[in-house]
Amino acid sequence: MDFTFPEEIIALRAAFADFLKREILPIEDEIAPQWDTPYPDKAVLQDAMARVRALSVDAGFFAAHMPEKVGGQGLSTLGMTALVEDAARSGSRLAMTAISPPNPAGPSSLLLKLPDHLLEQWVRPVVTGTKTACFALTEPEAGSDAQAIRTRAVKDGDGWRINGHKHYITNASEADFTVVFAVTDPEKRAAGGITAFLVPAEQFRRGPTQWNISDTHPGELFFEDTWVPDDHVIGEVGLGFFAAMEFLNAGRAYIGAQALGLAEFCLDAATTHVQTRTAFGKPLAAFQGASFPLAQSKVDIEAMRWLVYHLAWAVDEGQNPMLDASIVKYYTTEQAYTVADRCLQVFGGMGLMKSGPIERVLRHLRMLRVVEGASEIQLLVISRTLTAG
Ligand SMILES: Cc1cc2nc3c(=O)[nH]c(=O)nc-3n(C[C@H](O)[C@H](O)[C@H](O)COP(=O)(O)OP(=O)(O)OC[C@H]3O[C@@H](n4cnc5c(N)ncnc54)[C@H](O)[C@@H]3O)c2cc1C
Repeated sequence: MDFTFPEEIIALRAAFADFLKREILPIEDEIAPQWDTPYPDKAVLQDAMARVRALSVDAGFFAAHMPEKVGGQGLSTLGMTALVEDAARSGSRLAMTAISPPNPAGPSSLLLKLPDHLLEQWVRPVVTGTKTACFALTEPEAGSDAQAIRTRAVKDGDGWRINGHKHYITNASEADFTVVFAVTDPEKRAAGGITAFLVPAEQFRRGPTQWNISDTHPGELFFEDTWVPDDHVIGEVGLGFFAAMEFLNAGRAYIGAQALGLAEFCLDAATTHVQTRTAFGKPLAAFQGASFPLAQSKVDIEAMRWLVYHLAWAVDEGQNPMLDASIVKYYTTEQAYTVADRCLQVFGGMGLMKSGPIERVLRHLRMLRVVEGASEIQLLVISRTLTAG
């Protein structure tokens, strides 16, 4: 066993840290007042995000995990995982925009199942940051039980006619196209009866944005007699549910890396705080009541780290580590939330202020315990592997 990072990934991390400091932090400072107002100027934020994406594309970081044939760099999952961790650890909100995963608005291997001419038309622009996407699986009556979706696609001439309603879809209000999952054979459903389609934005209607507790503002999508040609099927007809699960599995290392980086950010901030804040005539660090929660957090972070790196390595080895992926999603999101909560506590009142460093991160981590397969669903997957056969 060799636990050292390859030299090229160490160099990449250093280059990314330099890029964040030189190119992204000045933009972050420029728009800082927007984060603190109750009604931020959406146009200013979107302009800043577009600039960050463009800079990151130029520097070769944004979608480096995608293959070169669609404009990526063919970077390993381990390499991209390291960048996601570093972006999250930096504490910069825009740093997460500089790296496409784990955001479903960015490119994924799912899109590589499209024919070549559509790769050029739709996927390359997402890799190069000029278009964004969304991933539309969840419906009002089908969340955790995703195979219960009601959106229906029926064969119509040289294409498919789609009717249905999706909700909680990240980037619904901005996406240039969506990947939508629809039932094509109601008898088979998950076992060969759900298909994924690429649908351009002109072909669906957007509902109002649904606000939640984090910076993610999911929204609704309506498909009303939407028609797409046959070549807009992603992968094979009937295999969409497997493609969705493959997509979510592949993304677990990136979700885990995000949770890990955010936990590290909280611990960094809390460690500085306990050394500078005094109470009863001493720095807080002198009291075990303040320092032991940080020590426990350090232990949790190291456990998270090795689970995440191991999963990324296994994906690069060509394995389909469904069990490891569920363990990572469950453990890192639950543990990072606990770490953030402990760190918030040592900040006292400041921990609860929007202007403090932890509050926003805690809200975001709370969200990660629900999305892309809630913690209970990961436990369901893990328990089935224990009792099967
Ligand atoms: C911010 C945000 C962004 C999102 N972005 C997207 C997106 O881009 N695309 C997309 O398709 N979806 C998206 N979602 C939807 C998300 O994936 C679902 O919210 C999630 O899968 C849970 O589904 P649900 O909300 O319907 O909860 P439900 O399925 O109703 O579950 C409610 C609770 O019951 C638990 N539960 C359910 N079944 C079981 C069981 N068998 N055993 C034990 N406990 C169970 C769940 O774990 C959960 O705690 C997003 C959600 C949020 C909040």
